[in-house]
Amino acid sequence: TVDSSAVTYGSAQQVLKQVFGYDAFRDGQEAVISASLSGQDTMVLLPTGGGKSLCYQIPSLLLDKVTIVVTPLLSLMKDQVDQLLELGIPAGFVNSQQTREQQMQVMNQLQHNEIKILYVSPERLLQYQFMEHIRFCGVGLFAIDEAHCLSHWGHDFRQDYLRLNCIKPQFPDVPIMALTATADRATRYDIAAQLQLQSPFVHTGSFDRPNLRYTIEEKFKPLSQLMMFLKSQTDQSGIVYCSSRARVDDITDKLANKGYRVAAYHAGYDTAHRNHVQEQFQRDNIQIVVATVAFGMGINKPNIRFVVHYDLPKTIESYYQETGRAGRDGLPAECLLFFDSGDVPRVKRLIADNPNEDRVKVETQRFNAMVALADAQTCRRQVLLNYFNEYSEEACGNCDICLDPPKSFDATVAAQQALSCIYRCEQRVGIGHIIDVLRGSHNSRVKDLGHDQLSTFAIGKSQSHEFWMSIIRQLIHRGFVEQDISRNSQLLLTDKARPILKGEIALMLAEPRIGRKVYDDKPLV
Ligand code: ADP
Ligand code: ZN
Repeated sequence: TVDSSAVTYGSAQQVLKQVFGYDAFRDGQEAVISASLSGQDTMVLLPTGGGKSLCYQIPSLLLDKVTIVVTPLLSLMKDQVDQLLELGIPAGFVNSQQTREQQMQVMNQLQHNEIKILYVSPERLLQYQFMEHIRFCGVGLFAIDEAHCLSHWGHDFRQDYLRLNCIKPQFPDVPIMALTATADRATRYDIAAQLQLQSPFVHTGSFDRPNLRYTIEEKFKPLSQLMMFLKSQTDQSGIVYCSSRARVDDITDKLANKGYRVAAYHAGYDTAHRNHVQEQFQRDNIQIVVATVAFGMGINKPNIRFVVHYDLPKTIESYYQETGRAGRDGLPAECLLFFDSGDVPRVKRLIADNPNEDRVKVETQRFNAMVALADAQTCRRQVLLNYFNEYSEEACGNCDICLDPPKSFDATVAAQQALSCIYRCEQRVGIGHIIDVLRGSHNSRVKDLGHDQLSTFAIGKSQSHEFWMSIIRQLIHRGFVEQDISRNSQLLLTDKARPILKGEIALMLAEPRIGRKVYDDKPLV
């Protein structure tokens, strides 16, 4: 242990230099530190790697009472404390994995003022005895790390965090610092309300991660699209996120069969397996982890070169968090998302299947924002940062839209072909079947229904499956075609389709983006 009474520091600047060895504060740190030293509540919104820890570590050395840091991750707790001890900062932690003796020892040190900064898990903090003990010893500052865990809207809600709302009533004179890498407005509001922050000083840093290249690709045959992408990523570390456990297992098998060093991670596996996967990934023994969102916080691997979203995330916030795990070392990294607009109604129904109307409303709005990002024809980064209230005038030059701007083309003939094919098939079949007929497939269903006899059979055979998929999806989007979800997504023509079929109006559509891949280009950053 380190004797805390030996050293006293004059200023935050001095601590920064003498203890941490840094010359200058990063954007926001100094203001946050001085606000908490003067007793004000604070809220620190900085992206991962932005330097949040220093915001409470420096005050802990300048306050004469202990700083209590609440954090949900036991493993990170120990790492942090080890690092602080290394720097000569008297630090400790208490959690449920310790023996009673270990816990008693820490409590003793606390009482003798031998600890300046104490890390605790939320459930520990909330125990009556612990509360009484720290009240007795005196607390200088509460820092709530990963504060988004107390928001239902956050991507990582934790029941224990909710009860942190008792800190303010019990310690009305002790400043609270809430820290998170999430800047989404709803979450931010929740944090301040739950913790009962009193006119807090808020610092929001830039959430831009310029080294990440965002690509959102229309989802056609996702497995082949994934394989193609992986070929561009020789031996690089990465994560593939999927929306279900079954899909995680399935894709893991398929990649393993192709010879990739790959492992699956989701909540269906036991802790031992999950820890093993995380550790092997950390050590580069596993190249790719295929995972649900359960694989998340606590991954502390700087050289993740890519994050693929096989399915659409439910919020921009989760998309940002998950892609944010790539490129922590500041070197270029790829973020690739496969988007099928056909998934949208299904996800919406899942969201709506909740008795809590308010939640349905908010979650639907948040999901709509994610869909708008996937659908955007403007710079992805602008849309992303706008969502976090960070406006940038200039397009980024490092996303698929900037690198390969969408073009539109006169799609009147293609649209007529697709629409009349839907009409001839008596509006009783789905997208896949229409494409089969257009492209002249002789599969048995086409034959059984006699669709190989139609005048539209094979009229579109010069174009690829992906081309037609993209055209029909756009026709759905633009309201010329409807998908009857209650009946196997059969396609129906709307009234808007008539003038096109009659040749009364022309139709411009976005050129299907098939072939050229922006991730094949050299990184720009
Ligand atoms: P966060 O908690 O926001 O993810 P950290 O607190 O772990 O980020 O900081 C990320 C890295 O930046 C750490 O290695 C930290 O030592 C370093 N760092 C923080 N503040 C400064 C600074 N003012 N000057 C130089 N390096 C800093
Ligand atoms: Zn861009």
